[in-house]
Amino acid sequence: MLQIDQLSYWERTTYFEGIDLLIVGAGIVGLSTAIAVKKKKPNWKILIIERGYLPSGASTKNAGFACFGSPSELFEDLKTIPENEVWDTFQSRFTGLKTLFELVDPSKIDYNACGSYDLIRKNDKDIDPDFIAYLNKESQKITKKEKTYLIENEPNRKFGFKGLKTAYFNQIEGSINTGKLIEQLHQKAVHLGISILFGIECQKYDATESGVSITLNIGEVKADRLIICSNGFASQLVDEDVIPARAQVLVTKPISNLAMNSTFHMDKGYYYFRSINNRILLGGGRNIDIKGETTTDLATTEHIQTALRTILEEIIIPNQPIEIDYNWSGIMGVGKSKQPIVKKITDNVYVGIRMGGMGVAIGAAVGQQLSELID
Ligand SMILES: Cc1cc2nc3c(=O)[nH]c(=O)nc-3n(C[C@H](O)[C@H](O)[C@H](O)COP(=O)(O)OP(=O)(O)OC[C@H]3O[C@@H](n4cnc5c(N)ncnc54)[C@H](O)[C@@H]3O)c2cc1C
Repeated sequence: MLQIDQLSYWERTTYFEGIDLLIVGAGIVGLSTAIAVKKKKPNWKILIIERGYLPSGASTKNAGFACFGSPSELFEDLKTIPENEVWDTFQSRFTGLKTLFELVDPSKIDYNACGSYDLIRKNDKDIDPDFIAYLNKESQKITKKEKTYLIENEPNRKFGFKGLKTAYFNQIEGSINTGKLIEQLHQKAVHLGISILFGIECQKYDATESGVSITLNIGEVKADRLIICSNGFASQLVDEDVIPARAQVLVTKPISNLAMNSTFHMDKGYYYFRSINNRILLGGGRNIDIKGETTTDLATTEHIQTALRTILEEIIIPNQPIEIDYNWSGIMGVGKSKQPIVKKITDNVYVGIRMGGMGVAIGAAVGQQLSELID
């Protein structure tokens, strides 16, 4: 590949010299951060570098749920995480979606306020109705809605599913078009004068009080500041509590008479599905091979794809032949805490990483927070 020292005067001065801020990663967080900083510092030269020819982590590969908390996940979290931290996370996801919709017009990303169902299987332990009452009481402080959660007693009859006992409906969650979101953010960034270059990898950096020397796969550049938004890949560059977590997805061929306009979670959020243009998108199954899925390899595996197909055939579309059109995987960044890491790590270097499975909800707000850390 052509190295920076082989580039023309024009190329070097336009893209690689006099950089006020270099951002690693063109996912939701990298793009939102660049936009938020550029609004604060319109004269800054901001360069985003992305190692893939498309963003190649999670932001173009996710399920597009605009979600903030399903009852079975909250129930599990409350067993191990202090109550105030669980509700802080809920709040940051809920308000994070508001920040996203201030940044991007919801109608341009096909936002659908369809609500979401948390499905409980016949053999799963049920949630006490008192717990739903508790969730409604606590969530009302944040959502301002008297009943964010409703009990749905007949999910099988309502949707033609099989093997479910009950479901909990979150009235406020919804869905978006993941591809359109990243395209909107990209266009906004370019419109503001931010440069985005693909196929460039950051390999290491050396920070001092006066700036940062950054080693790319095409040579060295200098920038006044560096923000690392490489999420599941961050351990390559920083020593923080974040590891990769792969998540696999499939999408069916179009299914006739598909009567499903909502988003669905199952097994404490480990499985999730929705309809897109008469197809079903189904993802998850990471819990059956946590060790194997702790990887940055964007591959799919037979046993997880088989588990997804089984759920499709036995629960979602029983008694009907289903064909699969797409399979893929994406890489999330997770750690011991469910909260993101948003901070300055050394002179002139900042991180916005560990978005977990919630980057759609919190990514734009993380970008906003990073812009507030920078002066
Ligand atoms: C299958 C799946 C389903 C999901 N579903 C949902 C959902 O429904 N709702 C929700 O809220 N969240 C969901 N998520 C999570 C969400 O997609 C992520 O939290 C979010 O996209 C993270 O955004 P990001 O910008 O931090 O990271 P990323 O989108 O991963 O962006 C980081 C970028 O950095 C680049 N990069 C990495 N290292 C380097 C380097 N050294 N040099 C240059 N570039 C580099 C990567 O190529 C990548 O494009 C899902 C994730 C997956 C995988």
